[in-house]
This record gives sequence, C-alpha cells and structure tokens, in this order.
Amino acid sequence: MSTFDEDRSPDESFSATPEAEPSAESFDSTLDAEQHSTGKQPGLFVIASGVVTALASLALLYYLEHIKGWTVIGYYWNFVIPIGAIGVGLCAGSGYGIGSWLTGARIGRTLLITVLVLQILSYFAAQYIEYLMVLEQIPEEFRHEHSFFTYFDSVTRAFAFQQEGGGPGQAFGAWGYGMRFLEAAGFALGGLIVPGILATNPYCTTCNRYMSTKSQYAVLPAGVEPRKIKKRDKEALAAYEAEQAAALAEGMKLAEKVGEAISADDPAGVAQILNEQQPQKSKNEKQLRRIHLNLQHCSVCAGGKFVAQLVEGHGKEQKVGAIAEWDLPEGFVTQIESTTT
Ligand SMILES: [Zn+2]
Repeated sequence: MSTFDEDRSPDESFSATPEAEPSAESFDSTLDAEQHSTGKQPGLFVIASGVVTALASLALLYYLEHIKGWTVIGYYWNFVIPIGAIGVGLCAGSGYGIGSWLTGARIGRTLLITVLVLQILSYFAAQYIEYLMVLEQIPEEFRHEHSFFTYFDSVTRAFAFQQEGGGPGQAFGAWGYGMRFLEAAGFALGGLIVPGILATNPYCTTCNRYMSTKSQYAVLPAGVEPRKIKKRDKEALAAYEAEQAAALAEGMKLAEKVGEAISADDPAGVAQILNEQQPQKSKNEKQLRRIHLNLQHCSVCAGGKFVAQLVEGHGKEQKVGAIAEWDLPEGFVTQIESTTT
C-alpha cells in the first residue's frame, strides 16, 4: 500500500479509472504489474555517462591512429568482420551500462535505441572533428574547396587493406562505402554490448536495482557418481540405472522441500537443508545428476529468487534444464545467511 502512495500521484491513478471506485488492493496489483514491466527509467546521468565514454574512446582512438600510427578501427577479421570497430564501439557504449548499473535504471528497448542513435551520431561527429583538424592544415584560401562531404567521400573511397609488406593496397573506390558501412555499424552495435548484457541481468523492481547472481549457491544431490559398467553385464547395468533413478527421485524431493520452506516463509528451514549439503557440495557436483540452486539477490532488500536447475553429465556433454524458480521475499536472503554455517 505504501508504494502506491509514494510512487503514484492521485491524479494519475484516478484518471486511469474515472468511473469505478476500485479498492486499494486493485491499485496495488496494477502498480505491481506496471513496475514489473518498467522499473526505474534511465535518466540524464545514464545518457551523459555514455556520451562521456564515447567521446573519451574516440579521442583515444584518434591518438592511437594518428599519433601512434596504430590501426584500430580499421581492423577486420576475415576481411568483413569489423572487430576493430566493434571493440571501439564497446568501449564507447560502456558508459550507458555503467550509468545504468550505478543508478539502478532498468535498460529497456528505448535506451538501446537511444544508444544506437547516439553511437551513430558520435561516429559521424568524430569524422567531422577529424575533418576540421585536416582543414586546419590547409592554407585558408583553399579551405572553401574542401567541404565535409568531399573530404568524407575522398577518405571513404581511399579505404584500402594494408598489404603484407605494410603499405596500402589498392583503394576500394565506391566499395569504400561498404567498408564505411561495416565500420559505422560495428561501432554502433558494439555500443550495445555492455548495456545489452546488463539488460539480461535480473532486476529487483522493489528497490530499482540490478540483482547479483551467485551460481551454484547450493548443489543438491540427485544422482550417484558415474561409473563404467560393461554393456554385456545387463544385470549390473540395470542396477546402476535403478540407483541413478532412485537418487534422482530423492533429489527432486529435496528440491521440493526447499520450495515448500520458501512458500512457508521459513528461511531457517531452507538454511537447514543447505547446511546439510554444504560439506558435500563438491561430492554432489561429481554425481551424474545434481541440482544447482542459483541465487539472484538484491543487496538492498535481501529479497530475490532461487533458480533451480537439473544438471546432467560433465564437461562438454553437460546438459542443464530448468526445474523451478522461487521468489524470495524481502530480507529472506539475510535470514538464510544468518543461519548458514
Ligand atoms: Zn530489492
């Protein structure tokens, strides 16, 4: 109820449902749904952080390419993958991610589109600044002959791959625009990498914070250690498979108990199960099947989520399947950890 009073102006809430007089409860549920889909919106700080890292990256790029003579943005893998441009774009766009992390703003489609547009603008702004610097070197009376577009066109057409000896190869001519496109697109898309990764992180809508994830917070047994059995020995093979199946059933029951303790709001009950398994965590991990409990938790409210996964096999043959997800109420994680040894 209190969130309703704080976060929503009366005007807004009443105009949304002008006729009916809904109970406070229905307000609460609509608010929850709304917060869940949005979270805190990125503000000016996020945009400013991104613009700062973009300008800093482009300034560094200019220094490396023109002062040091290193090819950075023009570095291609297999001649068509502009990994140089993607890398520079990644650095440039990292500020949008850092700003979102610091303020807890939830990255959505609007921000990603904004990043894309700003990255393209920064790319062309950098080209324009380079043009102004080139212009400085030209005697004043000839400057009017060199517009930005003639400069941009001639640089683009002069694109060439470096030859093995180090000298430039044949100029691309009109094909240079293809390389220009790859470069700009690589830079723009590279900018989406950091905010894109952050956007997939779990998010606490109560506190407007990104949550952190602890993988394998606990490992529950759901199998026995794999062992080699001769295929001809059908009896032993059947016994082994029965043993694995029984252990799997036991493991699923144990996971169910964790879920029940969470629903019963019993952190001590959860902690007890986890404490029992903690000493044999690495032993459990060696089993053919085991259940990983991954913890997503919010450092502000100590709520979050347990994600339970059934893991089968090891190494390259490992398979992971989702079993269940349990939401943890505020404070639950602190309560578990205060009773965990
Ligand atoms: Zn929280």
